[in-house]
Amino acid sequence: MNSFFIKATAAMTIAVSTTAMATEKKDFNYVVDRFADIEVLRYQVPGFEELPLQQKKLIYYLTEAALSGRDILWDQNNKYNLQLRSLLENIYKNYSGDKSNADFKAFEKYLKQVEFGNGVHHHYSMDKFTPEFSRSFFDSQVAALPTEKKPADIEILSKIVFDPGFMAKKVNQAEGEDLILTSANNLYEGVTQAEVEAYYASRKDTTDTTPVMHGLNTRVVKDSNGKIVEQTYKIGGVYSPAIEKIVANLTKAAEFAENQTQKDVINSLIKFYTTGDLKDFDEYSILWTGDTNSRVDFINGFIESYDDPLGMTGAWESIVNFKNLDASHRTEVISSNADWFEAHSPVDPRFRKDEVKGVTAKVINAAILAGDSYPATPIGINLPNSNWIRATHGSKSVTIENITQAYDEASHGNGFNEEFVNDPAMREMMDKYLFITDNLHTDLHECLGHASGKLLPGVDPDALKAHGSTLEETRADLFALYYLADPKLVELGLIDNPDAYKPQYYKYLLNGLMTQLMRIEPGKDVEEAHMRNRKLISEWVLEKGKANNIVSLDKIDGKTYVNIKDYEGLRNLFGELLAEIQRIKSEGDYDAGCKLVETYAVKVDPELHKEVLDRYSTLTIAPYRGFVNPVYTPVTDSNGNITDITVTYTEDYLPQMFRYSSDYSTLTAK
Ligand code: ZN
Repeated sequence: MNSFFIKATAAMTIAVSTTAMATEKKDFNYVVDRFADIEVLRYQVPGFEELPLQQKKLIYYLTEAALSGRDILWDQNNKYNLQLRSLLENIYKNYSGDKSNADFKAFEKYLKQVEFGNGVHHHYSMDKFTPEFSRSFFDSQVAALPTEKKPADIEILSKIVFDPGFMAKKVNQAEGEDLILTSANNLYEGVTQAEVEAYYASRKDTTDTTPVMHGLNTRVVKDSNGKIVEQTYKIGGVYSPAIEKIVANLTKAAEFAENQTQKDVINSLIKFYTTGDLKDFDEYSILWTGDTNSRVDFINGFIESYDDPLGMTGAWESIVNFKNLDASHRTEVISSNADWFEAHSPVDPRFRKDEVKGVTAKVINAAILAGDSYPATPIGINLPNSNWIRATHGSKSVTIENITQAYDEASHGNGFNEEFVNDPAMREMMDKYLFITDNLHTDLHECLGHASGKLLPGVDPDALKAHGSTLEETRADLFALYYLADPKLVELGLIDNPDAYKPQYYKYLLNGLMTQLMRIEPGKDVEEAHMRNRKLISEWVLEKGKANNIVSLDKIDGKTYVNIKDYEGLRNLFGELLAEIQRIKSEGDYDAGCKLVETYAVKVDPELHKEVLDRYSTLTIAPYRGFVNPVYTPVTDSNGNITDITVTYTEDYLPQMFRYSSDYSTLTAK
């Protein structure tokens, strides 16, 4: 299963930008909240106010469709999440005691964490949150609730909160364990990993050249006869009340479509939500991929499968966006040269595409983030995920510039560079070139990296199994890293300095070898696909590069620093590894892929880990960041006609969560 999201990391945007967008409001307050390992930011939507009214209305109904699906993801993440959310919010609102009380403070932190995780597990580490308030505080607050707000099953909810071993991990990826039985998400019930694998194996027709993405919109359970069946997410099926609301808003949005193509896209999505038939999803995906001329665009559905240990079921999400016309020039240049990049890539010509089909790329501004993209959000997207649709119809790739800009702005002067980069000249290069090369990295990763290469005939696209996501991200990152240093980028006018890639290389290794470890608890392995990918690449080039005097980790006054001595040599190593990863993907060489992941991507050096955590603790940087959304409000005339949609940026974090729980609860009592 392919996955095409880059999850933004705090360390991805460590530089101070010198190229901030002209539309930036100087006094805009980016930081909204800070708790546990999280910083919540807000983002601006430059250009929204200038859109024609029809496009504003289109965006408005698409944002309503996006918010209407919120409860789906909560329930997918764990079957008790919605009940737990109601309980925690009710306790918080009902609390009348001293708000400086330590138990209350700890409870508030826990509530904020659960809201951020869309449930009781951390969005990134997948571990269950640990409550720091006392059991007696919790029990007394439950007892103080009015009768109608008391949960039906307080026993199980208390167990979820207080028993660390119960449903400990949302998604377990540990090799050798039953990944389904040990994962606490709600995508399977009463079935073992072996049973599910056998079930899908029997469903797959290996001669089908246009296979649907089995399991994408289903929950797999055993029926009363012990037979394995799929329960479908659709109107009349699982999550029907939420999907009905989504469809009602999509229907309104279709009235304001910019053109017939876009109207067809929306209507085909409505059809899919109605039938639940994955053939209809493929039809929608093809239409969506072909809609490249509309200004407004959106995704809404069951898309990425990181939250399924087997990579089958899609987590529900939505992003509504519109094209940033100025910045899109950059990605248009890249995608119009896609064939040149493919033809010059350092992989075996047998694994290259003869012609890169329809990679369309643009830079967008997000208007709303929802489901699996909220509050933590990707900074780039490349969809659809279906391999045969990508091969036949191409794909659409975007970089979300108002999000990367907010990350960049919020990182001003946070002390990161001073702590982890010991060369002042490099710090200066980072300040100057990281914002643009971060964006270029994302562009290259999304529009070229994921779109490059091909499978040899007969190779199963899922051959790399549990390591598929990691290796796919590794491939896309290596493609981007390799070409960031290519003189072609200067020739194309995308960058004005042939050395601009150097701070990007430096930061990439720093992150992959060291600073991303701030997100891992002591003693734990690296598990998330993008983190594994960055570690795999960085550890591999460090091992190869040490011997040739290309790169090393040096200890100076007890602190470890990345030392790149030969940038050309480093680029060649990226090319060498890209060739091998592409071979693994093209041939479906599971054993070689598994060995690379297990050797370089998983295990953490405890000593270096401790050093990174200690150095981080002297800074106030949050390891993870996410966003609150702007608020869109229709303005109506005396006849109730919408005359404008306004956008405001004043809502705070918990108030937004509470408003969403109140206005967009579809699957649970409020
Ligand atoms: Zn990716």
